[in-house]
Formats: sequence, C-alpha cells, structure tokens
Amino acid sequence: MRLSHRITHLTDDGTGGWGLFNRAREMIAAGLEVTELTIGEHDVRTDPAILTAMHGSAIGGHTGYASIPGVPALRAAVAQRIEARTGVRTGPENVLITPGGQAALFAAHHAVCDEGDTALFIDPYYATYPGTIRAVGALAQAVRTRPEDAFQPRAEDLAAAAPGARSLLVNSPNNPTGVVYDRATTEGIAQVCADHDLWLISDEVYDTQVWEGAHLSPRALPGMAARTLVIGSMSKSHAMTGSRCGWIVGPEEVIGHLINLGTHTTYGVPGFIQDAALFALEAGPEMEARIADPFRRRRDIARTVLAGQNIVGSVPSGGAMYVMLDIRATGLSGEDFAGRLLERHRIAVMPGESFGAAAAGHLRVAMTVADDRFKTALQTLCNFAAELARAG
Ligand code: PMP
Repeated sequence: MRLSHRITHLTDDGTGGWGLFNRAREMIAAGLEVTELTIGEHDVRTDPAILTAMHGSAIGGHTGYASIPGVPALRAAVAQRIEARTGVRTGPENVLITPGGQAALFAAHHAVCDEGDTALFIDPYYATYPGTIRAVGALAQAVRTRPEDAFQPRAEDLAAAAPGARSLLVNSPNNPTGVVYDRATTEGIAQVCADHDLWLISDEVYDTQVWEGAHLSPRALPGMAARTLVIGSMSKSHAMTGSRCGWIVGPEEVIGHLINLGTHTTYGVPGFIQDAALFALEAGPEMEARIADPFRRRRDIARTVLAGQNIVGSVPSGGAMYVMLDIRATGLSGEDFAGRLLERHRIAVMPGESFGAAAAGHLRVAMTVADDRFKTALQTLCNFAAELARAG
C-alpha cells in the first residue's frame, strides 16, 4: 500500500552518524564495556521525591483524561517561571502543556507553517529539527554557522535566508555545541525576525544548565513576545526525560489554536505526570542545581584535560550537557574519528556530521558518565587524536 511522501521522507537527510550510536548499542548488547557519551540522558534517574508525588497523584485518582491545555496549577507555575525569567507578563492562557519538548516543537511549527512554507533552523542542529519541520509539511532550510564564531548565528546570514521564510528555530543553550548565545546574537536574531516578519521558535530546554554567561530568552526582548514561541521541558532540568512533559509559551491566540491541535492529537498529558512536574517545579532551584551540577563539574574537567594538549580544540561551551570538540587537526572527519575511537578504545561519541554540515570535523561529547570515567575517556580521546595526527 502507498504511504504518504511526508511520512516516508521525514528523515531523508542522511543521518548517517546514528550508525555509530547503533554500533555502540550492539557492542554493549554483546557484553562489551563501552563508555557511552552519545545521547543527552542524565546518569541519574528522576528524583524519588518526584516519583512519590507522581505515585500519590495516580493513587489519588488522577488517572483519567486530564485537562488538554494542562492542569491549571501547572500552567500557572510555568507562566510564573517564564514571567520571572523574561520580565514579560505571562499567564496560564499563554501556556500549553505538551508531552515533552519534542511534541512542543512539532506543535509550534504546525501552528505557524503551512504546507510548503520555509522554516529556518540553525546548523549544527538537534537531530530531530529537520524531520520535525518536514512532519508539518514545511521545507526545512538550514542556516549554517561557523566554528570560528563558536557556532553562534550571524545576523547577516539569517537575514540572507529570511526573505519568504515563515519561521526561525533557535536553541540556546545549544545542543549539540553547548554554546550559550550572547546578547548580541540574541538581539540579532530578534531583529531579523522583526525585519522579515518571522515567527521565532526558541527551544530553551537547557535553560537551567548555564555555566557561563546568562540565558537570555528572546521573549524578554522588546516586541518579541508577540512573535516568539518558547519551548520548554522537564526532561533536562529535572531528569524527567521519560515522563514526557514540556510546554509552549506564546501569545494567547496561538495557544488557543494549539489547544485545539492537542484535542486532535495528544489529548493532553497524563494528570499524574503533570502533578509530578508541578511538584518538581515547586521544589525550587536547589533541585535543578543538583541535576545541573554534574555537567558543570564535567565541563570544568574537560577544560583541564583539553588545556593539557594542543591537537583537539574545543568550542567555548557555556551550558547544556555537551562539549563539542574540534578534531580537524587529525585530518579525519568526525565520523571516521568516532568510528575508530569506538573500535579501538570503546568510547562512543557522536560525529559532528550527525548534527549538520557545519559541525564536520567535530565530535559531540555528552558529559553523561561519572567524573572519573569522563576524565579518563577524554584523556584517551586526546591521546588517540595526537596519535592519529602524528600518523596522518
Ligand atoms: N530540544 C533539544 C535541543 C533537545 O536536545 C531535546 C532532547 N534531547 C529536545 C528538544 C526534546 O526533549 P524532550 O522532548 O525530552 O523535552
């Protein structure tokens, strides 16, 4: 039977780098010990106190259909959180609770793009971005950034791509680079959106993981709240990746339509998950700091290890769970290097090429194993790079 072009072409952009991820999984399944630095999953599980709240809510009966926009108390808590971060008045009517940030990214593009519209995103990018855009029938167009700019988009590159486009998707703190956009970059993004009447979809799922600089949500900039859809999630901030709870914050009119979309797609997020998310948000910043701290520590470890050699370069990262390494001095592509590192040293990292052409010759290292093991793996990686550079 014939399937739709849309579903069969979601990921036809050659996500070859996932071959490495799959190979690492096979090795682990075969009983080999592999240091897994591929995906953005914490090495701690969801806090037991959050699970107790989840259990209490479920046992208490919150297992029926939940309110589709989100339970009022959670919408209000998210609104308060966003208002506190941006200084822009934000009420529950500006919030839709979604099954994770991923569903929010899909819904946001659905809200602003018609079939065939161009939706811009930044290269390097989180792996699902182009597929998410194609899933709503839009054309995914990448705007390339440069390693020498720490992969922060230049306003002139955005402006060159903007004519005729409907939306621009940005992500800071960034996956895969770990870079936190500076104020000038964020203001440049806002200016291009205003000049070209673009919707800005701002993926801020790593906003609690900032080690350097400060997170500046574009919603906070003058005039931007009317054209910005902020994507948030409990996944990274509270180690709740499996619970599937996120949100979109935007103008009330957009949220109204998105509630209608929710009625016809997800039918909401389970009530006990939302109650657990509310508990977690109300637990305050200490819990978030506890979850973020290991990444800050490991980022410092990475800095120390990298300072002791001169073959592997690093992108100046200020947040998220990743460091991006520049291995161009070895003469190998990210894919070749990652493949050899896995076979020779059983260390799995993601080739930069998996995240777009702009990150060629780079590796994304997820800082998701214990400090000692992380340090040893990075040292091994650097020694291996030096060996390859000498041989090359
Ligand atoms: N955006 C970015 C940049 C991500 O890295 C991720 C998850 N890795 C997501 C969105 C989606 O996260 P979730 O659906 O778990 O909220």
